[in-house]
Amino acid sequence: AKAQGRNNFQFFSAEMNRNALDRLNTENHLQSALQNNEFELHVQPVVDCVSGEVVSVEALLRWRQPDLGLIPPSQFIPIAEENGLIHDIGRWVLAEACRLHQYWVDAGMAPLPIAVNVSAVQFRRGDFADMVAAVLADSGMPAACLQLELTETVMLTASERNLAEIHRLKAMGIGLSLDDFGTGYSSLSYLNRLPLDKLKIDRSFVSDMIADPADMAITRAIVSLGGTLGLQVIAEGVEHEEELKALQEIGCAEAQGYLISRPLQAHEFSNWFREFQA
Ligand code: C2E
Ligand code: CA
Ligand code: CA
Ligand code: CA
Repeated sequence: AKAQGRNNFQFFSAEMNRNALDRLNTENHLQSALQNNEFELHVQPVVDCVSGEVVSVEALLRWRQPDLGLIPPSQFIPIAEENGLIHDIGRWVLAEACRLHQYWVDAGMAPLPIAVNVSAVQFRRGDFADMVAAVLADSGMPAACLQLELTETVMLTASERNLAEIHRLKAMGIGLSLDDFGTGYSSLSYLNRLPLDKLKIDRSFVSDMIADPADMAITRAIVSLGGTLGLQVIAEGVEHEEELKALQEIGCAEAQGYLISRPLQAHEFSNWFREFQA
């Protein structure tokens, strides 16, 4: 048992070194990823649960690293948050969302609102609303076409100044959603203090709601809370027809997930949307 324990330990520390190396590599490559144009913004449609119409898209960042292929945000956003690159990356994401909007306009498509994810770290610097205003002004995208997805972490770490920024974004006409609702500290007190438009029910509740009555109860409670507070509720991670049906039954407004579509590259989305509308 002792020998085995030692082996396990060696394996564990080798693994840790490998992770540290991976991290170092990732960090080095991440520095140049923006200049080298290695980021891509994919989009996933959100539908109205009743009519089935596409009502908006969520923009999801991908890193196409030449040696490693397509890297999901979970593997580099935390690093970018730690080393501060998230500020430049976040500005790029917003500008890219504006370019997508312009691309739709130029193609004669009715532009859909685009939801962009915002990291809590982006708020900490205190110039977030200025940055958003500048990027919108540069691009000409109407503020009403932009939705920002904030997490509970943003709410919990927001200073007075941040709260003022959030109100300013809202006053500009930007939509505000609370992402991953139910997974954080779920302090319900800020729901009243913040000018939110939407609540996004975390995928963990949606994916278990058919099998687990507790998750169904939580989903139902969030939908009802949204109704009481005048917030539109979006269920994320909808993969099965039964989930969509249950969401319709409990009165959830909007749904997003692989059942409708995976996140797609901009041109793939245009094709998908054309087929969808046909
Ligand atoms: P999120 O905002 O909760 O985004 C939803 C995640 O669920 C996305 O993962 C999406 O691809 C995935 N998803 C959507 N539908 C389904 C489904 O039916 N089943 C399953 N299993 N998954 C589904 P993704 O794209 O890997 O993004 C992960 C997280 O990375 C996002 O979670 C968001 O927090 C963050 N993120 C993505 N793009 C950005 C960005 O531009 N900026 C920042 N700060 N964070 C971003
Ligand atoms: Ca999101
Ligand atoms: Ca989410
Ligand atoms: Ca569960």
